[in-house]
Formats: sequence, structure tokens, C-alpha cells
Amino acid sequence: MGEADILDGKAVAAALRAKIAEDVAGLKQGHGVTPGLAVVLVGEDPASSVYVRNKAKQTKAAGMASFEHRLGADTSHGDVLALVERLNADAGVHGILVQLPLPDQIDEDAIIQAIDPAKDVDGFHAINAGRLMIGQPALVPCTPVGCVMLAKKALGDLSGAHAVVVGRSNIVGKPVAQLLLQENCTVTICHSRTRDLPSVAAQGDILIAAVGRAEMIKGDWIKPGACVIDVGINRVEGEGGKSKLVGDVDFAEAVQVAGSITPVPGGVGPMTIACLLRNTLRAARAIEGIIQD
Ligand code: NDP
Repeated sequence: MGEADILDGKAVAAALRAKIAEDVAGLKQGHGVTPGLAVVLVGEDPASSVYVRNKAKQTKAAGMASFEHRLGADTSHGDVLALVERLNADAGVHGILVQLPLPDQIDEDAIIQAIDPAKDVDGFHAINAGRLMIGQPALVPCTPVGCVMLAKKALGDLSGAHAVVVGRSNIVGKPVAQLLLQENCTVTICHSRTRDLPSVAAQGDILIAAVGRAEMIKGDWIKPGACVIDVGINRVEGEGGKSKLVGDVDFAEAVQVAGSITPVPGGVGPMTIACLLRNTLRAARAIEGIIQD
């Protein structure tokens, strides 16, 4: 068998961003509405700071308004809550994203549940999670949407495929499983207590890895010809002691077995911000009562 097709998330994300920018321009011209995304960052976690900067840059590039709120690491729970409430009431803000993780003095779940579900562009609010579960229109978490887009890019119709999801977090594993179910896949969800994970994983026509363990999934865990979507972002020591990013899948092995595979970096990662912009556009349309042109 030859090498797997590499799913170029960068290119797919760029095309999606270009389409969003076009739609944003149409919304401004046709309705006088500029979608606005507010991002709240508490503290100075370097990775979070880079994400927030990229989000702001790409929001502006898509023609949307970007509002950045950077608060000190010692900000109180009450002050973050008050900011979320102000943003909920701000008519220029259609999407609110509170960058996680938050410092210990802040109750993360209470902050997420305080966001107006109509502006919850991360899709983490219980209302949106519940709507996704029962198949109602919802703001759906960005990374899972990106995963399914890439799987569809590789396979077209996913109906009837067996999808194995490794990981059951509320951010990735559970919502991606729901989306795959909506695509008529047969879905298996695995986690740290799954027995004989390699043989369960090897049943997947689609294998989604969202674990957070560097290169855990080996070539012989993969069904020949499967579509492998690697969500993991793990920093490890590379050649010459320099750090590098790897996924949850052993790419060098997997590329010999899979039919298609996402690289890390350059696979799922770029899709996440593009899907955040997509959610912001959707939220703006819904809040302003604009039916898609
Ligand atoms: P969590 O730590 O919240 O969840 C990890 C999941 O993996 C848990 O369900 C856990 O099982 C399971 N797990 C852990 N160890 C094993 C094991 N040995 N065997 C089987 N299952 C295991 O992580 P997230 O879902 O938030 O993130 C997963 C990865 O995706 C991380 O590397 C993260 O950085 C990356 N990520 C990337 C994004 C992107 O934009 N590309 C966005 C979000 C995350 P259990 O529930 O039993 O503990």
C-alpha cells in the first residue's frame, strides 16, 4: 500500500476563511451588520496568549470586529463575570470566547454558563451542548466541526462508516462523536478505561485521536485505508534538544497504513480558528435575525 493522502488543514481552513470573509462583506453591505468577536484572556499563559493574538488577527482579516480583553492573572471571579455580563449586553458583540484555562480563583464552569448561549461561539454552554445532543440548531465546538469537515473532505459521505473516537472530553471527544452520529456514522467512543484500545481503534474507518499523549496511536492500531484525524497537540523534545509539536498519532507509522491523515501541525489546528469565525458569523446572523442570503 502507498502512503496516505495528507489532509492539508491549512489549505482547507484558508478556503473556509475566504468564504467567511465574502459572507461578512455581504452582511455589511446588505444589512449594515459587522459581526463582532470578543475574546477574554485572564493571565499570561504563553500558549493562550499566542492563540488569542492569532484569533484577533484572523477575525480582523475576515472583516469582523475584534475586541480583546486582557485581564491580570489575579483578576477576581466577580470581575470576569461582570465583564461577561457586559459583553452579553453589548449589541456590537455577537460572539464571546473566554480563553481556557482560567486561573484557579475563577470558577471556569460558572463563567462558561454565564455566557449568553446565543453568543457562545465556543459551543461549551450546556444549552448548546444539549441542542447538539438532540439535533437542534446549536453553536457547536470549533475543533470537532473542523475534524468532521476534514473527514468529509477525505471521504465524502460518511454515512455508514465506523468512526472510532479516542477521548471523551466535553471540548473534543463528546461533541465530535455527536457530529459523526449526525453524519450517520456508527460511533465508538474510547477513553482511558477502554479495554484493548489498539484492537478497538483498528476497527475504525475513521479514527479521531483526541487524547493529549504524544504519538500514542501506532501504525498497527489503524485499519488499512482508514481516515485518521489527529487532534493532539503535544510539545516534545526534537533533534538537537529543540522542542517540536507532534500529534497523538505516530505519523511516520500511520502514514504507511492510513488512506488519509492530518499532519500536526497543519491539520486540525488551523481549522479550529476558521470554525470559530464561522460560528461568529452564524451567531451574528441569528442575533440580527438575518436569514442566510
Ligand atoms: P482532555 O485531557 O480533556 O481529554 C483527554 C481524553 O483522552 C480523556 O477522555 C481521557 O480519558 C483520554 N485518554 C487519556 N489517556 C488515555 C489513554 N492512555 N488511552 C485512552 N484514552 C486516554 O483533552 P482534550 O480533549 O481537551 O484535548 C485532547 C488533545 O487535543 C490535546 O493534545 C489538546 O492539546 C488537543 N487539542 C487540540 C485542539 C486543536 O485546535 N487542534 C483543540 C483542543 C484540544 P478519560 O476521560 O478516561 O480520562
